[in-house]
Amino acid sequence: MIDLSHVNAWVFDMDDTLYPREQGLMALVQARINAYVVEAVGLDPQEARVLQRQFLDEHGTTLAGLMANYTIDPEDFLRVVHEVPLDGVEPNPRLAERLKTLPGRCFVFTNGAREYAHRVLDRIGIADCFDGVFAIEDGDLTPKPEPSTFRHMIERFDFEPRSSAFFEDTPRNLEPAKALGMATILIGDGHGKPLGDHIDHIAPDLLDFLNALTFKDAA
Ligand SMILES: [Mg+2]
Repeated sequence: MIDLSHVNAWVFDMDDTLYPREQGLMALVQARINAYVVEAVGLDPQEARVLQRQFLDEHGTTLAGLMANYTIDPEDFLRVVHEVPLDGVEPNPRLAERLKTLPGRCFVFTNGAREYAHRVLDRIGIADCFDGVFAIEDGDLTPKPEPSTFRHMIERFDFEPRSSAFFEDTPRNLEPAKALGMATILIGDGHGKPLGDHIDHIAPDLLDFLNALTFKDAA
């Protein structure tokens, strides 16, 4: 049995964590990012994909890689790549119900843009389950897994990392969390990336995992 009774701050990545990857939203965003890179850098789509993967590995996001290597307008990038229809994302009232019963506060910590994050949370029907959303603009466009962005987020929401848990689908984004003392839960299979012992728990489905939690002092 998994005991997270010590946790009073529940921190969630958003994309592919608070809704299943199969709903396809990130694939739409990725396609728009690819088109943006093609245009901004002047590569063909295949080359742009290679560059984009390199940026993700080296900088955490495509945007951070573009900003380090080219002159681009980050606001324009964030607006354009997040202009995606949300029809594929399903409302999840059972998740909303469960988040509201977790003991303590809940937060979103995303490398996505603020306005997009709020649209997605609204669409799922969980916007009112969170005490705060830390989007890419809040970390001065410095994405996870940069440790300073984790420290920013923790300061902003003012919680004790050792009393918190972080849920993420990208394995390496759990590394700084673990180093800070957060309990770490990988949602999904890690996209074929290396896992490692900075991951405390692996859960194929977020809601199933949350529903299986029991709390010592629960009535
Ligand atoms: Mg994610």
